Order: sequence, then structure tokens, then C-alpha cells
Amino acid sequence: MKIANFNQGRIGIIDGEFIADVSRVVNYDPVSWPPTGMLRFIASLKHIKPRLLNELKSAKRIPLTEAQFNCPIAWPNKVIAYPANYHAHIDEMKAGTGLISKFNASGQGFFLKSNSSLSGPGDPIVLPALPDREIHHECELAIIIGKGGRGIPVERALDHIFGYSCLIDVVVRGKEERVMRKSFDSFCPMGPYITTADEVPRYYDIDLQLTVNGDLRQKANTRDLIVGVPEMISMASSVMTLYPGDIIASGTPAGVGPLRAGDRVEIRIAGVGEMVLDVEQGKEGAHPVWEKASVATA
Ligand code: MN
Repeated sequence: MKIANFNQGRIGIIDGEFIADVSRVVNYDPVSWPPTGMLRFIASLKHIKPRLLNELKSAKRIPLTEAQFNCPIAWPNKVIAYPANYHAHIDEMKAGTGLISKFNASGQGFFLKSNSSLSGPGDPIVLPALPDREIHHECELAIIIGKGGRGIPVERALDHIFGYSCLIDVVVRGKEERVMRKSFDSFCPMGPYITTADEVPRYYDIDLQLTVNGDLRQKANTRDLIVGVPEMISMASSVMTLYPGDIIASGTPAGVGPLRAGDRVEIRIAGVGEMVLDVEQGKEGAHPVWEKASVATA
């Protein structure tokens, strides 16, 4: 199944050229706040599946071209992110800085991005007003947690995956705290929908790529991950309880590069989805903390 959040919080299942509105099966009022309908949907899918299949027969369908897609999960408990996690990107960062172990996901663990940095496939990436700084794209597979848990062993980790999505981890390069550099509004576009794990059995062999204005910047396959998909879940859950709808950004491959206003970014993950985003210059974001001399690093 491909599950989307569309038209201001409605939950839909993609059915060919249409999207079927199934918001009703989780008794979710799309305009309520906080926007947690998708979390309920993910947490209860096993129990509501018969009702969902029934609802699908008669659900209102609208053409995909008339649906406005939002970020599939607007209000997760957390967004976990792994640093550079492909062998080639490690080499790239090493060439730039002389450092290696610092950027290795297996050695360094993971970090968090603010949940409010999430944005949807129809939203632009809005660059903060930091004219002297490079702002980079990172092309990443998002893992969506289905069943929560703590201390999940690697052998059981796949049971905890609800699905996958496309995610761009946007970052201001520099030496400030990573969470701050990666948490501006719109710095975590995700979408266009969640593809459930049963449709992605070969999670260890997924092609992903990112282009800017049609130029290929990043191209990789999950077989080159340093910390694999099950291992990421196990490591994260060794620290914190994972909840349904938690998002894991699985780390970037080589080819990170700057984004500029007017750019058009396309992320494409085979069997998972693709989305095209515009880059705009915003007016907000300036603060004296960014004015210190800063060398590009992570
Ligand atoms: Mn990243």
C-alpha cells in the first residue's frame, strides 16, 4: 500500500490514478490538532485492516492530480537521523577534512532533527537568510516505524518497520551544533507517501538518487550502507523507545552539495517514491550565532 496524507490532513490510499480517502477508519477529524491521524493509522493498521479493506470498496476517490500531498507524518514522536552512512560519502568527507571516524555512523551513532523541520512534497525548501553559508542536500531513505519497542534485537528489527519514504536531510554546513544546523523549518522534506514494507522486501538493495536542476548529484544503493536498516533500528532502540510513526533518516551517500534559491531538487527512490521540490530564499534565520567564522564540516 501507498499511504498518503493529503488535502489538509486526510489519510488516503493510492489506487492507480486515484486516491481513496480512508480518514474515517481511524475516526480521525483531519482538522483536529495535533495532527496525529497518521500515527493512529500506523499504530492500529493490523487491527483495522478488515475495516480498511471494506472501506476501500466504497471510499471516495479523487484523481491524484487533484490531491495536494502533505508530509505523510506531520507529528511524529521523533525524527532520528544517521550521519554519513555510505562508504563513498565517508571518503568524500575525509578528503575535505582529514577526519574519518567522526563521520562514520557505526562509530558515531545517530542524532535527532527537530520534528518541526518536516515538510511535505508540495512545500518548497526555504533557505534561511544566511548568505555566507553553504546549505546542502542529503538524499536519504526514510524508515517509518510501525511497531514500537525498546532494545529491539537486529534479528527482530524488520518486524518493527511500517514502511519507507523519500527524505531530504537539509543542513547548513559549519561547526555549530548539528541539531541547530539541520532543524530549520522545511529542512526535512518527506514523502510523497509511505510505501508499506511488504512492497519493499529487498530493503537491502534499493537504488536512490537526487538531482538538482536535472544534474545528477547523488546516486547510491542501500547495499552500500555502513549501518544497515535492521542495525539502525536496533541501535536507536538501544537508547530510546521507538513509537509508531517514528522516522529514521538513514544517512546520506556521496555527492552532497549546495542548494540555491530557484533550484529544483528531485529525489527518487526505486520502489518507494519520488518527489520534486523547489528551493526558495526565505527572509528568516539570521542570528549572531551564525556570524562566527566557521569551517565547513558536518
Ligand atoms: Mn543526513
